[in-house]
Amino acid sequence: MTLDIPTIDKKVDTRSPRLWMPKRVVFTPKALDEPYGQQLYQRLENLDLPIEKLKSNRITGVRGENERQTYATAKRTLAVVTAPPSAFKLRPIPPSADWQYHLAEGCPAHCQYCYLAGSLSGPPLVRVFANLPSILENTVQYEQPGKTTSYEASCYTDPLGIEHLTGSLAESIRHFGTRENARLRWVTKYDQVDQLLNLPHNGHTRCRISLNAEPIARRLEGGTASVHARLQALRKLALPQTHGGGGYPIGVVLAPIMPIPDWQKHYCELFDRLEEALNFDCNLTFELITHRFTPGSKDVLLQWYPNTSLDLDETRRDTKRNKFGGTKFILPKREMQALRSFITTELSSRFPQAKQLYWT
Ligand code: SF4
Repeated sequence: MTLDIPTIDKKVDTRSPRLWMPKRVVFTPKALDEPYGQQLYQRLENLDLPIEKLKSNRITGVRGENERQTYATAKRTLAVVTAPPSAFKLRPIPPSADWQYHLAEGCPAHCQYCYLAGSLSGPPLVRVFANLPSILENTVQYEQPGKTTSYEASCYTDPLGIEHLTGSLAESIRHFGTRENARLRWVTKYDQVDQLLNLPHNGHTRCRISLNAEPIARRLEGGTASVHARLQALRKLALPQTHGGGGYPIGVVLAPIMPIPDWQKHYCELFDRLEEALNFDCNLTFELITHRFTPGSKDVLLQWYPNTSLDLDETRRDTKRNKFGGTKFILPKREMQALRSFITTELSSRFPQAKQLYWT
């Protein structure tokens, strides 16, 4: 069968962010004991990055005199470490997937609403796990015969944002490509997908791109790829390999959805561009996530981004409690309903084949 896939208008801004190159790379002794850690060492050395071999397994020298300095120093630091034994006891991650595992923790981008604030403790450096082969092997015991088990790899990192340094996402995609009943899911705000297009994924990996209305992406998502570049990346991931793409199942994570002024217009513009980028048949899903924060994440975000224009006013929010007694501030019910009804209706009419997996 030949596919007639229209090309798309290239006259728009397609800027990508510069690839993140850390100013400091440290390896712990335990990481260097791992064969995969040695591979990472070679890879980073070939990139001419300044590498320190630490004497102990504790990472030091990432704290500055205040939180801003600590943030700046940590965000320029890549540490290659081994994931602790607790990483081998997987935790569920509903509604996104059955289980989460981590190939790294931390992210080089600067989103002012960052999901990692308050969920990862300590300075926000990027830690890459040198025992990834054991971590992947460990996921196998969570598979169940006769059932498909899904694994989320991007709870604590943006795996594509560091892929040029690690290759750990490709390693994961290859692993899940060999597992009949297991599926990998990951999400990114970066666009350098070329190195993933020819991997033997076997249709077992769903690559998702996080998108948002243009003013939100421009104002709040520092260091990430432009919305247009992300749309191009999504197109490449989905195009059949015979057409130079990756032939992956794909997804859009629309997050965090916010009722900015003229939100109907801005979200419609985004959906127009998405339709243009995906003007061929593809296996597409949507995940729809509204903005929320906790007292803890607000504290951390205000230390990292003291001048943020992000709306973190609790008095304009509804409160939701989780089963452990924690508090989340979510959009007020009326706004939530208006957004939900508008966005889900628009997406259903524009992408009738695509499943909307959840709204939260
Ligand atoms: Fe945080 Fe995700 Fe932005 Fe990275 S891309 S800074 S993890 S919100």
